[in-house]
This record gives sequence, structure tokens and C-alpha cells, in this order.
Amino acid sequence: MISRYMSKYTCESLKRIDIKFLKNEGYLIKNTSKSGMIVWSSCGEETGRADIYVDALNHTLNISYYYRDPWIERTYVSSDILIISTPCHFGGQRYWLKCECERHVEILYAGGVKFKCRHCYDLTYYSQQEYTSKMFAALGKAWKKEEKFKEECSKMRVKFWKGKPTKRYRRWLEKLSQYEESEPIVLQQLEKLIRCLDATE
Ligand SMILES: [Zn+2]
Repeated sequence: MISRYMSKYTCESLKRIDIKFLKNEGYLIKNTSKSGMIVWSSCGEETGRADIYVDALNHTLNISYYYRDPWIERTYVSSDILIISTPCHFGGQRYWLKCECERHVEILYAGGVKFKCRHCYDLTYYSQQEYTSKMFAALGKAWKKEEKFKEECSKMRVKFWKGKPTKRYRRWLEKLSQYEESEPIVLQQLEKLIRCLDATE
């Protein structure tokens, strides 16, 4: 269906928080709170960044960032994730991130607005029907927005002036092409997510 190489590539482009990253960057030192930043990139290009703060007293990781996709306006998201520690057999502690499904995991992915574990985003857990309805919901939202935008055109009384499109109409046409280009992005994003989950299986 899809090559391993491709799966790996798409997986890396998903934003994620890895407990190993927090450990290596010195965020998990006992009784020491620390704030900093996490920067995600794909193929050497930055794809996003978030402010992070590890509260040693409450054992939480606060992550705040701007979530953006082609159809939703930029949304500011701030959420607290519990950090769990369990004793190791040979001494020391092992750390986990607690997903909202109660699972203790090493990595949380941002497949949507929220950071969740791969089980939560695993579409094999969803029925085929649920998956398709999700896909159509995303597309439906996009189409509704596009329809509203197209209505604007019908309200424009003057589209041409001396044989040339007016400034307003030109701007509208430009925006229209953006809409037409971004529709496949919604589908691509959904496909990317599935590929990533395939890769982590
Ligand atoms: Zn989960």
C-alpha cells in the first residue's frame, strides 16, 4: 500500500512530545521546575513551536501553542499533561506522560488540537463508518466556508470595469484559487495521520 520510507517521513512531520526529549533536555530533574520551548520540524523546516513548562511540584507539563489548519482560524491551545514516574527495577525512576485515556505513554501526538497517545489516534479502533463520517465532517466544514465565500461574489455588483476585472473581483478570484488548492490538504492531512499510525504499529 505505502512504502516504509514514506510512512516514516509522514510520521516525522507530526507534532509530538516525547518524554525522552524532556529527560534529555533536563526537564525531569527532581524538585526543579523548568520552562522552555519545543520546536518541530520536517525536512529541516520548522513546522511549529510551543512553550513548555514542567511544574515539578504538581508533576505537570503545560504546553501552549497556536494550532493552525487550513479551515480553522489560529487557535491558542494551552493544556496540562500529567507526568507519571514509576520506580525502575534497578533503581531510579522511569517517566511517562499520561494521556486523557489514562494510558501511560512515552509519546503524545498532536493529530488534532489536543495531544493524545497513538492509541487515541489509532483509526483502526474506529469503525470504518466513524472514520468516513469524520472525514466528511471535515470536508463539510470546508465546503460550507467555501459556499459562504462564493456568495460574496454574487453580492458584487461590478466585476468588470472597462473590460478588466475590478480590484475587488481580482482579490476574490485569488482567494478562490486558494480555496480550491486547500481542499486536497484536508484529505492529505487525514491520510498523513493514518499513514503515521500505520508506521507506528
Ligand atoms: Zn490515549
